[in-house]
Amino acid sequence: MSTNTTSAYSDFHLQFIAGEWQTGKDDSTNTNTNPYNGDTLVEIQQATKDQLNEAYDAATQAQEAWAKQTPAARAAVLYKVVNILDQRQEEIVDWLIKESGSTRIKAMVEFGATRAITLEAATFPNRVHGEIRPSNTPGKENFIYREPIGVVAVISPWNFPLHLTQRSIAPALALGNAVVLKPASDTPVTGGLLLAKVFEEAGLPKGLLNVVVGSGSEIGDAIVEHKASSFVSFTGSTSVGKHIGELANGGEHIKQVALELGGNSPFVVLKDADIDQAVKAAVFGKFLHQGQICMAINRIIVENEVYDEFVERFLSHVKTLQVGDPNDQGTAIGPIINEKQVQSLRDKIDEAQKEGAKMLLSGEINGQLVPPHIFTEVTREMDIAYNEIFGPLIGIIRAKNEEDALSIANDSMYGLSSAVFTADMQKGLRFARGIRAGMTHINDISVNDESNTPFGGEKNSGIGRFNGEWVLEEFTRTHWISMQNEPREYPF
Ligand code: NAD
Repeated sequence: MSTNTTSAYSDFHLQFIAGEWQTGKDDSTNTNTNPYNGDTLVEIQQATKDQLNEAYDAATQAQEAWAKQTPAARAAVLYKVVNILDQRQEEIVDWLIKESGSTRIKAMVEFGATRAITLEAATFPNRVHGEIRPSNTPGKENFIYREPIGVVAVISPWNFPLHLTQRSIAPALALGNAVVLKPASDTPVTGGLLLAKVFEEAGLPKGLLNVVVGSGSEIGDAIVEHKASSFVSFTGSTSVGKHIGELANGGEHIKQVALELGGNSPFVVLKDADIDQAVKAAVFGKFLHQGQICMAINRIIVENEVYDEFVERFLSHVKTLQVGDPNDQGTAIGPIINEKQVQSLRDKIDEAQKEGAKMLLSGEINGQLVPPHIFTEVTREMDIAYNEIFGPLIGIIRAKNEEDALSIANDSMYGLSSAVFTADMQKGLRFARGIRAGMTHINDISVNDESNTPFGGEKNSGIGRFNGEWVLEEFTRTHWISMQNEPREYPF
């Protein structure tokens, strides 16, 4: 076992298990590369199942004492984490740029969201509370306790790795749980190891946070099935999420799961909308992080009367976007995370053309840089509209009227986020309430996340909610305890 004591956040080749930085013992290596220029950032010897077991053992042991600490003591660690995030903002933003291909703008957005959820989580130890309920049984009192779950398994994706990991682990720890985390293979640092350093520096007791970097085939299923955890918080694709759900509730286990999965957000422009503002919003909500966001605009639906005007202005704005080095302040569109994703976008471009969509804007794909592609005369059943894109491609659909726009917006197996633009707030609210999704924004983009509002979706976008009271409930268990204060009369 080797120890890493460097103060700069530069060396991340070790696993963080049982409060120690240790070498992975698997034969395979995770080569972590910069998606923009292919530079190797770090080589991580992957973890074995035995190391995963060690992580679960350490978490189980550490959790009991942690749950007994005062709320103030747990909150203090979280506040310290906020301070360290602030002190190390530059280093963290730099890692987000080089590891996940974040533009500078996106890295700052992600940093802000991570900070906000940490600050929110710091209030949880003192906010969690039980209830006393009346009883219909004479002499009985009903107490409802909220207790820590125990050990929580967290699996996170690569697109907003820092934030999507932290939005699970900060509440989990604040509420007295321990965590075993598996970050995505493309972002082991920003999705896990970097946060382990921050929590270690903040004085989190050993064993409470374990970051296990390993291949899906070696430890993927094992982290979900391990008997030490009774709750799995997964954020990622719908297909893997379904598999996780089955695993968590198959065989010997019935586990609670939070599944935050894919999306297909509609962005609806009604005929009375401020078209200028709608165009600006559509461009940002579509192309932030190259469109690799679960809430990214996936379909633009425009009412017939303003369709041509919207398309023309959208096209001219998109043409101004700079594609290239994510570290460059002026860059709006950086690299796609990996070659597999680039290939899936190539396939989508081909498919859209085959299906008869008109390609209004395209450009040469250069390595992992994919320039924006715009398709018009798209219909709801085309692949580019019906399935999640996760890249800088967009189809624009013509709606006959408001009713038709709503019907198209709802024609999806997903239900994560959505947006509608209109000058009439009553109409906007009516329309928003008609959308089957977890989140709808009137006169704004579908990409929104606030630490005190419920984040989550329905249908194939998953189950469970993050942030505020909703995550507080998610990461605790409910325990009804009744007290019979006088002898109860039984029928026999
Ligand atoms: P993914 O499903 O491929 O991977 C997510 C995580 O699951 C990674 O850590 C991966 O290593 C792990 N994993 C893969 N197979 C596994 C297995 N068999 N057992 C255990 N873990 C396994 O998703 P991705 O490509 O990293 O992320 C993109 C997807 O995530 C998109 O569909 C996007 O919409 C979705 N997403 C959803 C939200 C949300 O909040 N709803 C947020 C971000 C991303």
